Amino acid sequence: MENTSNFIKTIIEADLASGKHSEIITRFPPEPNGFLHIGHARAIITDFESASAYGGYTNLRYDDTNPEKEDDIYVKAILNDIRWLGYEPKNVYFASDYFEEMFERAVLLIKKGLAYVDHSTAEEISRDRGNINTPGKPSKYRNRSVEENLELFYQMRAGKFNEGECVLRAKIDMASPNMNLRDPALYRIIYAEHHNTGNKWCIYPMYDYAHPLEDAIEGITHSLCSLEFEDHRPLYDWVVRETEMPKIPRQIEFGRLSIENTVMSKRFLRELVEKGKVTGWDDPRMPTLSGLRRRGYTPESIKKFILSTGLSKVNSTAGNDMLEAALRDDLAEKAFRTMAVINPLKVTLTNYEEGKIEFFDVPFHPEKPELGSRQIPFGKTLYIEADDFVVTKPNNKYKRLALGEEVRLFYSYFIKAHDVVYDKDGQVIEVLATYDELTRSGSGFNERKPNGTIHYVEATHAVPAQFNFFGPMIIGDDSMDLLDRFNDDSWTIKHGFVEHSMKHVKVQDKFQFIRNGYFNTDEPKEGKLNFNEIVPLKSSYK
Ligand code: ATP
Ligand code: MG
Repeated sequence: MENTSNFIKTIIEADLASGKHSEIITRFPPEPNGFLHIGHARAIITDFESASAYGGYTNLRYDDTNPEKEDDIYVKAILNDIRWLGYEPKNVYFASDYFEEMFERAVLLIKKGLAYVDHSTAEEISRDRGNINTPGKPSKYRNRSVEENLELFYQMRAGKFNEGECVLRAKIDMASPNMNLRDPALYRIIYAEHHNTGNKWCIYPMYDYAHPLEDAIEGITHSLCSLEFEDHRPLYDWVVRETEMPKIPRQIEFGRLSIENTVMSKRFLRELVEKGKVTGWDDPRMPTLSGLRRRGYTPESIKKFILSTGLSKVNSTAGNDMLEAALRDDLAEKAFRTMAVINPLKVTLTNYEEGKIEFFDVPFHPEKPELGSRQIPFGKTLYIEADDFVVTKPNNKYKRLALGEEVRLFYSYFIKAHDVVYDKDGQVIEVLATYDELTRSGSGFNERKPNGTIHYVEATHAVPAQFNFFGPMIIGDDSMDLLDRFNDDSWTIKHGFVEHSMKHVKVQDKFQFIRNGYFNTDEPKEGKLNFNEIVPLKSSYK
């Protein structure tokens, strides 16, 4: 896409060169029955980039032909997520806006002897379809007259039949090797309130009939969709041809994108939300765009990841490492570097003056002075990571604090531990240390080498914070039921401190907590600052 070629662009370029089209129009057609996930990002990016590369445009069209599962909440969320990715649809349409025209085109099919009302039961229809090796059996209603079919179809619309009593079917070929052409259903009866049309309709078009008409009505030139629709293309072409649509769109399929250990089915994600397994569609563990956003993913990183997977005609699976690498690349440029202590251990500097506070000026990003700087306080009582201290240095590889050892505190002084305080269970609850005034960062002091450099926050200015860590939401293997694979231990909470300068951070502000990883600011939790780990600093994938 962007500056790269792919098989879709090749087709589009040929259509422009031959004069078949002078303007390229695509659409993204989600069903508003759930939130968008990262798989949809591939479709969105493909649809928008394929048109914009040639000065064309893209519509957002809600494929709302199934009233039972659709809702306005999803309608709003979908547009919001598309905009967040950085795309603006030229038009926002609903398939339901075309119900009247679809009905009229079905009447035309009946008049041409190409559609009939079938009163067979669903079981009979499915049984008589045959299979790959056996041709289907024509329904006993297949040869109803045009007049009878018209009469019955109008009665279907008027609510004269119950759900499941009859359907309108295309009359194509019961022996076709393509099962989709064995007289597929075009309309079924559903008594349910539709989010847009209310109770106006009780017959609803099937996807395979509605979708090509929606494309043709909007003048879509290239209808890009995922691979599972390949076998439906002959039916797609049949519908636009036989309904005599003036503009004929071309369907082109591309491979679906999956991500390792990530389940993207909307039906499953919805079940997790409805069963309360997650906190909502935007739970930071969800592969939804809203979940990834809350976790701290940037739209740029998602785009970069999708483009790096390449667009192919076959389905593909990407590793989480690729997604995380795109994210780290992007965050490394943008995230402010600050200090947070996630598992605090108190350090008291026995030779530092009681009540004294010094401030050090520290840039927010070592390579990006334009991001500015802030004041870091230093004083007698500090917090360091509990992991950064052991009583006895275990070996020479250990580059942190231990009794008798000296470390540098980032941007501040060297400190040397000389004693510890234990609680009644024998846990270290405080380290006593001294600092060396001569070692102040920036002073050029180089007479001794410290045993490593660690981060800290000054205790009296430290701001309490919650830190959320996420593991994989789905574990186990494919043989297990999906709900049983939900990882109940996938959200861990820790309580610690962040530096003083972060007192007034806003939701969505992103940070690299030095030595700890990348974090995104979430809504405060019980009045406390609240951060989601986006991704650790280094990949854990080998
Ligand atoms: P799901 O199967 O996850 O519930 P869906 O395909 O039913 O998704 P739609 O609302 O119909 O959801 O999707 C809108 C468009 O997004 C479709 O054209 C579909 O082909 C595309 N799409 C959905 N998932 C993926 C994916 N993983 N990779 C590429 N395209 C996808
Ligand atoms: Mg779909």
